[in-house]
Amino acid sequence: MAATHRTPPDGLAHESALVLFSGGQDSATVLAWALERFAAVETVGFRYGQRHGVELECRTDFAAALRGAFPAWGRRLGDDHLHAVEVLGEISETALTRPVEIAMDEAGLPTTFVPGRNLLFFTLAAAIAYRRGIRHVVAGVCETDSSGYPDCRDDTVKAMQAALNLGMASRLVLHTPLMWRTKAQTWQLAEALGGEALVELIRTGTHTCYLGERGTLHPWGHGCGECPACLLRMEGWRIYREGGS
Ligand code: ZN
Repeated sequence: MAATHRTPPDGLAHESALVLFSGGQDSATVLAWALERFAAVETVGFRYGQRHGVELECRTDFAAALRGAFPAWGRRLGDDHLHAVEVLGEISETALTRPVEIAMDEAGLPTTFVPGRNLLFFTLAAAIAYRRGIRHVVAGVCETDSSGYPDCRDDTVKAMQAALNLGMASRLVLHTPLMWRTKAQTWQLAEALGGEALVELIRTGTHTCYLGERGTLHPWGHGCGECPACLLRMEGWRIYREGGS
């Protein structure tokens, strides 16, 4: 049965969600996941002094393509909120915001790690959700196959949910449908949600590469093919196409 003809699961059919949507593979997949479940979905993205604006361009184009290919989802897809959080770029010395080489630092974390980024994003998303009367916030963070970012871990997200609900006297739910999935399983989820059409949209329309490279379209999507994000995406695609997980 076509994914877009399904009725959202009971209990969530009348609720709305806010998706942290960056324009990358993971957040694009959870956007589809949310559109399948919730009656209304809004998106939020942040400009924080990224070295490359490619991801932000992808998010607009991807949302438009999604509306075109999946009209039922398009009707549920509401406002997009794009906010400038330039302070993150001002205070961090990372390979995502400065011309720093991508490597491991003394703490064993990649230089692509932006300290506090996801914590801040969750906080801002929760504030927007609060204002909009939205109870569900969805993020594509993942503990499996990740770059080892501590702010993508399940414990961090659960602690954030508790802190945000205490601090705002709310009953917000942070959803992380990719938390325990490998990259290959994330492709499988996209296929289950929207078939080949969604897989193709994500493959060609999302951006993962740390270097902002978009020239060549590889079998696994656009990217330099050499940075850690590209390597992860490439390997996930290979395993998915070979039928593994
Ligand atoms: Zn790359």
